[in-house]
Amino acid sequence: MAQTLAVEVEARRDDLIDLTRDLIQIPTLNPPGDCYRDICDYLAKRLRNSGFTVELIRAHGTPGDCEQYPRWNVVARREGGAAGECVHFNSHIDVVDVGRGWTMDPFGGELKDGKIYGRGACDMKGGLAASIVAAEAFLAICPEFNGAIEISGTADEESGGFGGVAYLAQQGYFAPARVQHVIIPEPLNKDRICLGHRGVWWAEIETFGEIAHGSMPFLGDCAVRHMGAVVQEMEDSLFPALAQKRTDMPVVPEGAKQSTLNINSMHGGQAELPEGFTGLPSPVVPDSCRMVIDRRFLIEEDIDAVQEEVMQVLRSVEAKRDSFRYELTELHRVLPTMTQKTAPVVETVAKAIAQTLGKDAEYVVSPGTYDQKHIDRIGKLHNCIAYGPGILDLAHKPDEYVGVEDMIDSVNVMGRSLIDLLVQPEA
Ligand SMILES: [Zn+2]
Repeated sequence: MAQTLAVEVEARRDDLIDLTRDLIQIPTLNPPGDCYRDICDYLAKRLRNSGFTVELIRAHGTPGDCEQYPRWNVVARREGGAAGECVHFNSHIDVVDVGRGWTMDPFGGELKDGKIYGRGACDMKGGLAASIVAAEAFLAICPEFNGAIEISGTADEESGGFGGVAYLAQQGYFAPARVQHVIIPEPLNKDRICLGHRGVWWAEIETFGEIAHGSMPFLGDCAVRHMGAVVQEMEDSLFPALAQKRTDMPVVPEGAKQSTLNINSMHGGQAELPEGFTGLPSPVVPDSCRMVIDRRFLIEEDIDAVQEEVMQVLRSVEAKRDSFRYELTELHRVLPTMTQKTAPVVETVAKAIAQTLGKDAEYVVSPGTYDQKHIDRIGKLHNCIAYGPGILDLAHKPDEYVGVEDMIDSVNVMGRSLIDLLVQPEA
């Protein structure tokens, strides 16, 4: 059957290329969340033609949703001829800002030397196209399969997924009674299975001072100097401690196997002068300084302890500095998640990779989060991985591309996985 599948996939090579190019040519930029309805309509038409029942779902009232930029999602389902399990392929439809440095048209979908170029080519319209063609090739050889296949295109993954997978999960689309296996075709490379991701804790620290004339700073209290002391304490105690923590999660790249903290931004004193304004700032002692920190933590760490470490930094500074006052506000938290290697979807895709590529699958964990968090936490579905064509390092960069041969291999892996999960072995 795998042989027949490979023939069906090869026959769809040009179609796969055209589909990927069409998807890239719809500029679904996020922010602001452009053309979501256009791409959902395109996908709906394609999948209806392939026998899927299609729903278009707007995530009303989610962040960014408005009349000008509605958060549309598409969910397509095709039932087989008998009862069985449901395999769901979930791809995000949004792409990040183009940025500078392109030599190709970011929304041209140009094909050159076996690569398709454009914003979103690898992250992740190539993966979306691969999953559609995999399902279609599978249906051509196994129209009477057991269970169901679902394909979704969802909004806003790049900005947290609240108007996309989180919303659908809240509506029950990822409930274990409806869906049993989820594959997210993010660009992790065609031979790697991504089991999950590290945790995230974002917080804002504000230090307070007292405003005064800048010529007499001794009459005030400088909030920026207090924040400087916080950063110094982090350098002395927190960063070295984080570098010591190592995870057993197979996180890539290697540097992300330790705990990390990024100082995302710092703002103190007067607002910056508007561009084009030629005057000078006025002399004032800053009475407030705010810093946003982005802490990524490991599955072995507890989120309360992660918070406590930062509190400890603030308390040590407090002990050393008179008049040190601060406030700590949590902005965002995502717990780490990792699907077990023995989960059915992992074993199935690993087998399909070995058979298709003639090498063992590599298991990885992502340094940053993606929509698996919502499927895991809200949907309570733990049989979920990311697997798809494309090179992760190219995501969000200029001249992003996806290789046609990599897509063909991934289509075969996805198609074989469908055979494994949805076709009863002959007795
Ligand atoms: Zn992505």
